[in-house]
Amino acid sequence: MPTLLVTGANRGLGLEFTRQYAEAGWQVHACCRSPEDSHALKALHTAHLDRITLHKLDVADFNQIDKLAETLTDTPIDVLINNAGIYPDHAGSRLSNADYEAWLTAFRVNSMSPLKMAQAFASHVAKSSEKKIINITSKMGSIADNGSGGHYIYRSSKTALNSVSKSLAIDLGNQGISVLVLHPGWVQTDMGGPNGLINAEQSVSGMRQVIAKLTPKQSGQFIAYDGQAIPW
Ligand code: NDP
Repeated sequence: MPTLLVTGANRGLGLEFTRQYAEAGWQVHACCRSPEDSHALKALHTAHLDRITLHKLDVADFNQIDKLAETLTDTPIDVLINNAGIYPDHAGSRLSNADYEAWLTAFRVNSMSPLKMAQAFASHVAKSSEKKIINITSKMGSIADNGSGGHYIYRSSKTALNSVSKSLAIDLGNQGISVLVLHPGWVQTDMGGPNGLINAEQSVSGMRQVIAKLTPKQSGQFIAYDGQAIPW
C-alpha cells in the first residue's frame, strides 16, 4: 500500500487528508504539534490503528524534522504533503499594521519549513513508487491574481513558497520526484472561516484527484483543487 506523510494533521485540511487517504487504504504518517490534544485525530487513529501512525512535529523546529526523517529512514514515502500553515490575520493585513516579527514566523512556517521537509524527506520520497511532494499554497500567493492588495504577510509567505517549489521541482527532477503547488480553494476550516466556498471533504477529494493524476511532466505547476492552472 502507498504511504502518505502529512503535516498539520490535527485539524482542517490535514485531518481530512488523513481521513481520506486512510479510508482509501493508504499508510498515513499523520504529523502535528500536539497529537494528544486532538480528539478528532485520536478518534481517527483509533478507527484505523493499522493504517495511521501519529507523530509529534512542529514544522518550525527543524531539529524535530531531522529527527523524524531519521526515525523513518527505511520508510518510502509516496506522497509528502506540506500542509501545515498559518494565516496571521491579526498582523500585516493592512499597510498600517505590518508586524515584522509575525512576518518572520510566517516565513518560517509557510515558506521555509516545506523546503526543510523536502530536504529531510527527499530520499524517502525518491525510494517510493509515486515520488510526489505537494506544497499546499494559496491563490493569495499569486502575484498575477492580486487585485485587492493588503495581506502582506500571508501573501508574501505563500509567494515565497511558490518560488521555493519551482526550484525544488527542477532540483529534484533528476531523482524522479514531482513537485506541485496546490491551492485548496477557499475552504470552511478554522483558517478559511464559515464563509468558505467549499468544505474540507470537497477540497481534499479534489486535491487527491489532482495528486493522483500528477505526472513528472506537470512538476513545478501551480494548480487549484479542481485541476485549474493558477497564474503565478
Ligand atoms: P487550519 O488553520 O484549519 O489548520 C492549520 C494547520 O496547520 C493546523 O493543523 C495547525 O496545527 C498546523 N500548524 C500551524 N503551525 C504549525 C507548526 N508550526 N507546526 C505544525 N503544524 C502547524 O488551516 P487549513 O486546514 O485551512 O489550512 C491548511 C493549509 O491550506 C495551510 O497551508 C493554508 O495556508 C492553506 N490554505 C487554506 C485555505 C482555506 O481557505 N482554508 C485557502 C488557501 C490555502 P495547530 O493546531 O497545532 O495550530
